[in-house]
Amino acid sequence: MSSPANGAVASAESATAAAPTTQQWRGVIEEYRPLLDIPADTPAITLGEGGTPLVRSEWLSAVGKADVWLKIEGQNPTGSFKDRGMTTAISVAVHEGAKACVCASTGNTSASMAAYAAKAGLTPIVLVPSGKIAAGKLAQALVHGAQVIQVRGNFDDCLRMSRGLADHYPVALVNSVNPVRLQGQKTASFEIVDRLGDAPDIHLLPVGNAGNISAYWLGYKQYADLGRATRKPVMRAFQAEGAAPLVTGEVFPEPETRATAIRIGNPASWKLATAAAGESGGGFAALSDDQILHAQAELARRDGVFVEPASAAGVAGFLQDLELGTGPTYAGKQVVVTVTGHGLKDTVTALEWFGEVPEVVVDADIDAAAAAAGLV
Ligand SMILES: *Cc1c(COP(=O)(O)O)cnc(C)c1O
Repeated sequence: MSSPANGAVASAESATAAAPTTQQWRGVIEEYRPLLDIPADTPAITLGEGGTPLVRSEWLSAVGKADVWLKIEGQNPTGSFKDRGMTTAISVAVHEGAKACVCASTGNTSASMAAYAAKAGLTPIVLVPSGKIAAGKLAQALVHGAQVIQVRGNFDDCLRMSRGLADHYPVALVNSVNPVRLQGQKTASFEIVDRLGDAPDIHLLPVGNAGNISAYWLGYKQYADLGRATRKPVMRAFQAEGAAPLVTGEVFPEPETRATAIRIGNPASWKLATAAAGESGGGFAALSDDQILHAQAELARRDGVFVEPASAAGVAGFLQDLELGTGPTYAGKQVVVTVTGHGLKDTVTALEWFGEVPEVVVDADIDAAAAAAGLV
């Protein structure tokens, strides 16, 4: 027999059991506002970016005899890490009274800017290299209402033009040359330390225009200064052979790679990136497109994580370092690899890697399906 009092206790208990264990993530500005160098009263224009999964890779941990984690940035609202910097850039632009925004993009920045501009009621203007943008990204920019201008030139031309437009017309430039972008992007380091309890020994990531490596390093340094981490990781970053200015020290006038998100010949944050690599005891290395696409496929098959080609450069780099004995010693170390964007952005390149995929068509019959699946 339950008394009314017992009944009350029981229902209070079940209410507790049903309650979520964590509050809903509020986006990187509200989660980390006191640590971001943006005007205090900036309104947060957010789509709930950040708070992305850090997932242990059993495969890479075994291969490297290390403790390897993937920071899965494809889980952001528009499918890449660019959303972290876009929430801050668009929020500050709105705060400063902007009515329009512009960016140069290899694809993901435009997708992200278009979404955040839509949310903020700004007019988004996008400059992209003609014919070099993955279809998924172009679709995102168009669907969110961006004015997409395709330029006969490469990303570096687009960036020069965006700067010029922002200098001469009333539009806010939201490329990562805008330091507010890095303020948002550094929150990825905060999340990693908050989750692991300290900074990892080594951090691997792809690098193109070099805003992201610069932002990670900012974040790790800030957390170490605040005493929230006892160490800072070695930053090791990877480029594609056809677009490897940070590896060779020379501008690539005509960068070329299937990993379109890192097809950049003259990175805007060159100095910050070299400082991050140098100060951390890390460095840069180059990979062939085949190595990158192979890592993309392996990551999807072994870890269940589908990333776009450029995003697999950190994984490909890890494998190359192990094979050649280059880079830091990985054995026994904690390693975080940022995988920067979602595989659905560029399904054409992903499927091309498999060549002809045989089409399997059967009658609507269980035995036929079993035979086709190799079960009998
Ligand atoms: C932008 C981007 C990169 C390169 O980041 P940078 O900050 O330009 O170095 C890598 N991967 C993906 C998926 C990107 O969108």
